[in-house]
Amino acid sequence: MTTIGDKLQSVQTRIASACEAAGRPVTDVTLLAVSKTFGPDAVRAAFAAGQKAFGENYIQEAVEKIALLADLPLEWHCIGPIQSNKTRLVAAHFHWAHSIDRLKTAQRLDEQRPEGLPPLQVCLQVNIDGGSTKSGIPPGEALDLARAVAALPRLRLRGLMTIPEPLEDFDEQVAVHRRARELFQSLRAAGLALDTLSMGMTADLEAAIHAGSTMVRVGTAIFGGRPPA
Ligand SMILES: *Cc1c(COP(=O)(O)O)cnc(C)c1O
Repeated sequence: MTTIGDKLQSVQTRIASACEAAGRPVTDVTLLAVSKTFGPDAVRAAFAAGQKAFGENYIQEAVEKIALLADLPLEWHCIGPIQSNKTRLVAAHFHWAHSIDRLKTAQRLDEQRPEGLPPLQVCLQVNIDGGSTKSGIPPGEALDLARAVAALPRLRLRGLMTIPEPLEDFDEQVAVHRRARELFQSLRAAGLALDTLSMGMTADLEAAIHAGSTMVRVGTAIFGGRPPA
């Protein structure tokens, strides 16, 4: 049987090979283990194998899991849609939120971030390929939103996050991820101090790293398949 530790190791090998192929240091890319739908025992197994950063989509599920794992020094990333009635939970329980796609969400997170905690680290979710069913702002709105979010004192804007539609072909995957990279660079050129480009999942992490990803969000390759949402 392949354990979570073994699968984590093979994802790290994939990341290292992709970095090497792209001429990038392996320290450029952080692995976020996406533990949505998997229980606390799976997270404990990944932690035992050296993994500290975990991503969750469903906020209620995540908050319960975070409480059950409070004895471990984990870093929790919210990568799913954030409804207004969930901002308080995100502000109180997570270290990062990748899925900011409107100013109102950011403002609520800013107001609700508890005093004793460091700023919430955030990324703007950009709909980089114009997928019709997805959340995320159009690329053309990224600069204005980034400036507004960067001004909020209890948040710290770190970068951009994308979830492109699945593509089979490596070069096509790279082409979409490159658009995100170019947008990221243009925001940096406009003076925003961004260091995080959150893109790439189980099926396209090599292409994402090739195009400049600094954080890949991997679920299936570590924890196995999920029942359809
Ligand atoms: C589920 C999910 C992932 C992980 O996807 P896999 O294909 O299982 O690696 C990454 N990012 C987001 C936003 C997700 O919802």
